[in-house]
Amino acid sequence: FTTIYRSFAEQAERQPDKTLFELPDGQSITYRETAQTARRIAARLVADGVIPGDRVAMQVEKSPEAVALYLATLQIGGVLLPLNTAYTGAEMEYFIGDAQPRVLVCSPDRRADHAHREGDGLVVETLGVLRDGTLLDGDDHHEEVYDASADDPASILYTSGTTGRSKGAVLTHGNLASNCRTLLEAWQYTADDRLIHALPIFHIHGLFVAVNMTLTAGASLHFLPRFAPETIIDLLPRATVLMGVPTFYTRLLKNDRLTPESCASMRLFVSGSAPLLASDHEAFEARTGHAILERYGMTETGMNTTNPYDGGPRKPGTVGTPLPGIEIRVVDRETGEALPDGEVGIIEVRGPNVFAGYWQMPEKTASEFREDGFFVTGDLGRIDEDGYLSIVGRDKDLVISGGYNIYPKEIEDLLNAHPRVLESAVIGVPHPDFGETVMAVVVPAPGRQPEGGELLDFIADDLARFKHPRAVRVVETLPRNVMGKVQKAELRKRYADLFT
Ligand code: ATP
Ligand code: MG
Repeated sequence: FTTIYRSFAEQAERQPDKTLFELPDGQSITYRETAQTARRIAARLVADGVIPGDRVAMQVEKSPEAVALYLATLQIGGVLLPLNTAYTGAEMEYFIGDAQPRVLVCSPDRRADHAHREGDGLVVETLGVLRDGTLLDGDDHHEEVYDASADDPASILYTSGTTGRSKGAVLTHGNLASNCRTLLEAWQYTADDRLIHALPIFHIHGLFVAVNMTLTAGASLHFLPRFAPETIIDLLPRATVLMGVPTFYTRLLKNDRLTPESCASMRLFVSGSAPLLASDHEAFEARTGHAILERYGMTETGMNTTNPYDGGPRKPGTVGTPLPGIEIRVVDRETGEALPDGEVGIIEVRGPNVFAGYWQMPEKTASEFREDGFFVTGDLGRIDEDGYLSIVGRDKDLVISGGYNIYPKEIEDLLNAHPRVLESAVIGVPHPDFGETVMAVVVPAPGRQPEGGELLDFIADDLARFKHPRAVRVVETLPRNVMGKVQKAELRKRYADLFT
């Protein structure tokens, strides 16, 4: 068993002068430099009292040193707690109170916000984006590497909080290493790759997919603070892979400079974290000649399924087949019985990628696992005749009206196809006769003003009567959480009294 840290350290020995980070200002940082920074940060953390199993919280802007902090934490057996930079006040209170870190690393300008937390066994360090901050003070280097076993926790990663309060998923060294190795093989990722990295590093996608794969393969990162279409397109000719969320692709498609020529050196575009519109998939292929590879994962499990890199079609609107070593089944939401292919039910996952449990939530953990070890994802899906999985939505968003199941995504897809609609959210609201009924919340396309009636006419022929929304509301924007995911719980609250 080899940990992510050891695989990285091997790469740093083998090719110390290789560029790991290439930054927007033209600077580059090698594997050797990164390993040294990590050892320096490790010394600082040890001096702060971190021992194996202690949490190290990090809420900092993206930088190469933040990645070194992640490596340093792994090196000494600490448990990394990456926190979204958007969290403030009460949210931070919850995460810090819940996880009880030994060290909190924050941006220098937020130092004062956390002064009151210090003492009580918590040390506050700072890390900026200009290689500044207290974390980098000191010249000691910590050489020793904690001998982590597969079951030791490596990170507590909080879920995005789309369906409720964020839960801390305890991920082990084994979880991270196995998922990384599986993905390297599935996507044929090697030391020759140059990845455009424009994702945040406090989320599974940016850190445990993109960064882990690069560090262990000995590849390079074009490391960007955020997503900006112009910058991405400038970098495409010097890159081989882009990993993004669906909005990356929606926005790239709006740019005329996206052409087959600009993508000539690219071999792979990956999408995940939220559903990629099938129409965007098709438009991207028509524009660039590249079929975006969509995959499915979550905080608790890392990546579960992927469309094929080769050896099969990448099917728009699907998330592909299970990764090697990972089992997926779709079960009846009431009985828990496995369903035949083609039927919609709850997606369950089993494999070395599945987390150890929710931090300090033994009951929640127990209720989300089946006796045979399958984890209940809470997502609804269906497997087609070729074994490809499609995500239909979340179980919590399923609408049951007059005894019939209604999957919002089916209705949303139809509404989104209307030229005056930018996006939509279909939800269930209480109804005196049906228990629940469906309504649609719609955001107009720029400069357009759709009428509820015309939208209903537009979708009526494609939907059974019981699925017809009983109300349509046009709004400026949909409520989203910090990861950009639509918060349907918030919408359900807003329209709870519509029919009662
Ligand atoms: P919370 O669990 O706190 O409510 P969350 O589930 O949004 O938040 P994440 O772990 O960041 O937190 O997101 C995982 C979820 O994202 C999956 O369960 C799934 O619903 C969705 N998802 C990920 N990839 C895809 C995809 N390719 N297509 C559709 N949905 C996806
Ligand atoms: Mg979730």
